[in-house]
Amino acid sequence: MLSIYVKEVILLSRIGAIEAGGTKMVLAVGNKRGTLEECKEIPTLNPIACVRTIVEWFSSRNIDALGVGAFGPTCVNPNDPRFGRILETPKTAWRYFNFYEALADGLHVPIGYDTDVNGACLGESTFGAAKDLNHVVYVTVGTGIGAGVMINGQLLHGMLHAEAGHIKVAKLQKDFGESVCPYHKSCLEGMASGPSIEHRWGKKPIELTDQLEVWDIESSYLAEGLATYILCYSPQRIILGGGVMHQKQLFPLIRRKTLEELGGYVLTPELADIDSYIVPAGCGGNQGILGALELGYRALV
Ligand code: ADP
Ligand code: ZN
Repeated sequence: MLSIYVKEVILLSRIGAIEAGGTKMVLAVGNKRGTLEECKEIPTLNPIACVRTIVEWFSSRNIDALGVGAFGPTCVNPNDPRFGRILETPKTAWRYFNFYEALADGLHVPIGYDTDVNGACLGESTFGAAKDLNHVVYVTVGTGIGAGVMINGQLLHGMLHAEAGHIKVAKLQKDFGESVCPYHKSCLEGMASGPSIEHRWGKKPIELTDQLEVWDIESSYLAEGLATYILCYSPQRIILGGGVMHQKQLFPLIRRKTLEELGGYVLTPELADIDSYIVPAGCGGNQGILGALELGYRALV
């Protein structure tokens, strides 16, 4: 058990956080309470330049620990020799780059390292819409689709980490669109990510707000995905974030269709209150960086 004094010191620690996305990175300094004191955004250029900027920024800020939520796929198993490496990413400059090691060599502080979506899941379960829940799925619907999964209070890793954005979905008869996933003909990311909406309709999703058929198709695919997550992970709540989920009209559609997909087979108090079960992120877009902060805190204690 930590003494009260040590606990106090840890609560006052300065923790660095990195939300490392494929297009931009958010750097922040904050504390265990989830207060962000300072933030900075940098573009995700080549790894050497990025790490140099990151190390410079944090070096002058006197941090005690760092948390990183990294774009994937990436190795998050500390017992694996590839731990901390970015793996088979289409961003070739980053492929097999050991992000964790480069940061550890530059900053010499304890580092908590996980995927960006697991980080966001942790952010929501610590500070946001899933506070105090132990079984949570966080889904981002953005440039890609990814799911962060918390089971029994632990972020799910397994042999790698969940890649639940790539589960197969049944192509809708009325859908004339094609999958944008280079690996799969009909996966959730291929059929329902932001770029897939743009590919299907020839316009950016934000320009299609008033087109009912766009959100009808989108919600059907997302509901099919969520029903699968419910059946496999049995979460107490599902949180939906990412750029596409700014389209708030999706929520009631997704809720209704998810229940339809389940066909009345799973009956729980949580599902009976579906408006509280499938919810928007509670951290107002900060779930990724706050989750990284919590990863940093956990690396310290
Ligand atoms: P990323 O996934 O790259 O981290 P985002 O979560 O912002 O970033 O997702 C970007 C995707 O979300 C793009 O495909 C973009 O067209 C879409 N998007 C961004 N804002 C909106 C919006 N208000 N409504 C619908 N789609 C949006
Ligand atoms: Zn896919």
